[in-house]
Amino acid sequence: MKKRTFLKISATFGAGVVVAPSLVSCNEEASNDTDATGEAAAATLLSFELPKLPYPYDALVAAVDEETMTIHHQKHHQGYVNKLNKAIQETKTEASSLEDLLAKTDLPEAIRNNGGGHFNHSLFWEILAPEPVQPSKTMDGLLSKDFGSVEGFKKSFTEAAGGVFGSGWAWLCLGDDEQLFITTTPNQDNPLMSVAEKQGKPLMGIDVWEHAYYLRYQNERGQYLQKILERINWEAVENNLG
Ligand code: MN
Repeated sequence: MKKRTFLKISATFGAGVVVAPSLVSCNEEASNDTDATGEAAAATLLSFELPKLPYPYDALVAAVDEETMTIHHQKHHQGYVNKLNKAIQETKTEASSLEDLLAKTDLPEAIRNNGGGHFNHSLFWEILAPEPVQPSKTMDGLLSKDFGSVEGFKKSFTEAAGGVFGSGWAWLCLGDDEQLFITTTPNQDNPLMSVAEKQGKPLMGIDVWEHAYYLRYQNERGQYLQKILERINWEAVENNLG
């Protein structure tokens, strides 16, 4: 069921690469180190590419204008990808996946900022939709169990996101205890990182950096949050439960 929906999204927009949480799609460059058998070691120096948006730049115009989407994807996100690749090469930081990389302790600053930037934006594009996709019965049940109702979730999420001081992200995550929780992170940190106040599996992340909304909403972050929460692809969020 989930797979079929994914394929449909891909076909509709012809985007080629569907921005899955496996946006984690990357090119592995075998490290120079080889083990005793002469085979490449498992850990590698990864390199990443900017994922295509799963919809056109003007598709979210009900919430986010075309210019903001274009700059955000082509300039900001591309910048994180470029700097991440450079930082991986310079620091020779090996990992088996983007998640594996971000979960490392003592992350080099440039990888923390730009690896976070790449993961966060890839997830962000994926969980938005030109036409909102409502929560399934399952997702509705999970949100209702932990937040009272879908509306209760949105209210709590909006409060959390509105309370981020300066630049950062608001998250819906799945914890080790199988409970959903809302958390926020500063800058490009995310709940995969050891520095996060609360670690968990990110299901949905909303960018509250001013670059995500300033052209249309200026300082009115609350208005941006209200509009963008009307453009959530709840099926994509549910898929991230894994
Ligand atoms: Mn951003």
